[in-house]
Amino acid sequence: MQRAGLIERLHPPLLNLALTAGKLAAKSGIRAYLVGGIVRDLMLGRPCVDVDLAIEGDAVKLAGQMAQKLGARLTVHKAFGTASLKIDDFNVDMATCRSEIYRCPGALPLVSPGALQDDLKRRDFSINAMAVSVNAPDRDVLTDFFGGRRDLSQGLIRVLHNISFQDDATRMMRAVRYEQRLGFKLERGTARLLKRNLDMLDTISGDRLKNELLLWLKEESCPAILRRASRLGITGKLHPALRWQRTMRSAFRRAYASNIVKTPHLFFCLLVYNLNEEQLYKLLARLNLTGSRLDLLSNQSLELRKKCRELAKPGLKRSKIYSTLHGYDSISIQTICCYAVIPTLRSNLALYLKELRQVKTSLDGNELMKMGLREGPRLGAILNKLLAARLDGAVQSKSDEIKLVRRLAGL
Ligand code: ATP
Repeated sequence: MQRAGLIERLHPPLLNLALTAGKLAAKSGIRAYLVGGIVRDLMLGRPCVDVDLAIEGDAVKLAGQMAQKLGARLTVHKAFGTASLKIDDFNVDMATCRSEIYRCPGALPLVSPGALQDDLKRRDFSINAMAVSVNAPDRDVLTDFFGGRRDLSQGLIRVLHNISFQDDATRMMRAVRYEQRLGFKLERGTARLLKRNLDMLDTISGDRLKNELLLWLKEESCPAILRRASRLGITGKLHPALRWQRTMRSAFRRAYASNIVKTPHLFFCLLVYNLNEEQLYKLLARLNLTGSRLDLLSNQSLELRKKCRELAKPGLKRSKIYSTLHGYDSISIQTICCYAVIPTLRSNLALYLKELRQVKTSLDGNELMKMGLREGPRLGAILNKLLAARLDGAVQSKSDEIKLVRRLAGL
């Protein structure tokens, strides 16, 4: 029995956790394994915070014992026979080893308890289908039925069998994510299968596609993922007009080079920026995003795109910039900013984001009422004029504002 030398690479709290799982499992006569991403990342020397444990036996019962022993927070997902433990910043997911049968493409599989080999067989790629035992007598022994270790060393993403993408086409999206994250390549046969099975993406629910897309957008290598997915024809299956373009590359570059907060929401807006109303509507519906915040933000960007000509005029009054952009979310404005090539447009948008949107008048509605104005549209109009005067520098102090209000209201 050859030890893999992997367990000792775990961060001390995770090591303690794995060893505890191993001891408790051995006591109950069952077996526990580190599986999936953690084995891959330990081999690559990448940081690990999430741990997946596969149990040949009752995972929920073992999770309960571990929670008690370690004082961890336990969540049980009864319907799935899985449990999660939270210890400090670490998450541990525990599941009973299972075998899966796909009855039709894209649908969730039929699940039944199984052995470790069954559990590894149902996984996406060889590099994610390895396990390391955490209990005696074979602690730290690697199980690698599919050549995961070899593929890791050769930098290859390989599916486990020829109908993998038919069973679950979200694996295409996962494949590109790992490929670009790790600087790997799709193994030749896997790339061929992916291209041949692109239509299988039509069998996947909007929610699952959305989740995978959001995972792309959370990756550091998000632009590379989008470009690759576009070349492979994956984004085109989400919507035929959704593809990587040169202007998109520049927009992402500007986003990365600027100090704006890089969120998946911003990247989503950058990705869909070139779609027209109808295309955006269809994409959002396909991804089950209708009515979501991403719907709002991307539609705002689309609306703002139509105002770019106006906003690019040189010598625009600050109050005009304000009134044009007021009410739009900063993410929608930043999207336009990343795509803007006309310098005046960029500077007007930046001026609004950095300065104008924070500008406030010294007087508010209550104070205007104390001066004798009545609540209503006229008061609102005067407040707007006051703000415009502030923005344009026509008033600079509270007493300037009082004078202006008196003049406007005829007091
Ligand atoms: P990440 O670093 O992205 O979190 P991970 O490998 O931990 O990577 P998860 O999405 O948390 O990924 O999934 C855990 C494991 O479950 C994977 O390593 C893989 O073995 C398996 N898995 C996840 N999704 C699928 C899928 N769609 N088909 C087959 N196996 C999957």
